Amino acid sequence: MDRLQRFGLDVPNACIFCAALEETLTHLLFDYPITNSLWSRMLNWAGEHTPIGSWQEEVAHAVKWAKQSSGNGGILSSLFAMVVTVIWREMNLMRFQGGQF
Ligand SMILES: [Zn+2]
Repeated sequence: MDRLQRFGLDVPNACIFCAALEETLTHLLFDYPITNSLWSRMLNWAGEHTPIGSWQEEVAHAVKWAKQSSGNGGILSSLFAMVVTVIWREMNLMRFQGGQF
């Protein structure tokens, strides 16, 4: 929603999940407690114990992981894509089809 507002669209910018904070990529994907827990649990499962950062920082991690030729890089970058896709799908279900998180 913050991106749509920057394009000049008059849309409410409250987070679809909590309705309390501005809906940014970082908040939706990594600050909101449920999505933060989901990503944190996936990282722990894959043996990665770095703190969760902003959208830009997490994308940088995913790019780094995708370029690794050994270790868990392939798993971690795939997990990142899966988690972002699942959260994005749920957000769109809630916003456009009345689904629940
Ligand atoms: Zn929220």
